[in-house]
Amino acid sequence: MTDDEIAQRKMQFLYALRSKGVTDKAVLEAMEAIDRGPFIRGLFAARAYEDMPLPIACGQTISQPSVVGLMTQALQISPRDKVLEVGTGSGYQAAILSKLARRVYTVDRHRRLVRQAREIFDAMNLTNITAITGDGSFGLPDQAPFDRILVTAAAEDPPGPLLAQLKVGGIMVVPVGQSDAVQSLIRVRKSETGLEYDELRPVRFVPLLEGLGKDT
Ligand code: SAH
Repeated sequence: MTDDEIAQRKMQFLYALRSKGVTDKAVLEAMEAIDRGPFIRGLFAARAYEDMPLPIACGQTISQPSVVGLMTQALQISPRDKVLEVGTGSGYQAAILSKLARRVYTVDRHRRLVRQAREIFDAMNLTNITAITGDGSFGLPDQAPFDRILVTAAAEDPPGPLLAQLKVGGIMVVPVGQSDAVQSLIRVRKSETGLEYDELRPVRFVPLLEGLGKDT
């Protein structure tokens, strides 16, 4: 691809985000600043600027950019926030969060994905992200509580430990569903009096699984 072609594709990329409802200025700026290209290796690299989910290592997927944008927007991040992401995958979503928040912790059950994501964070000089291998359904008790929590794999219910690690006044966004086919993106707000849920849109994510993954 020539520089002109890349510039053209990036413009179309931002246009697609806006037309699908990503309107928050700070989120759009973060998505303009983070090049999706380096997060996709191999065969599908040429399709990085399409608004499509794409396969990554370990049988996982990098989410569709417009869904990344809508989830990020739903989190209503402030610059002072400490954010937890469960499901590092390629690292793309964490990189975008890092432009909006003070500090990002991201956890994946595949060591290989965490290692590859760290390499990209270093190359992009994103120094406020800590990527950790582990089962993210238990959160990160040592770093809790969090202002914002984003889960990028689908659970049957929002995991209890994550709800417990959310600050009062905090927001968690999580895809919830009992099968691959029917999932809904849920936003949970925690207040002094309890939890308040609202349903944002239908989505399709890989499942939240227990334990560590076998790297492939
Ligand atoms: N946010 C990613 C896409 C995530 S795909 C991106 O921007 O590219 C979902 C990821 O969740 C996969 O990488 C999968 O390994 C991870 N995952 C599934 N169950 C998990 C768990 N219990 N703990 C941590 N990560 C998990």
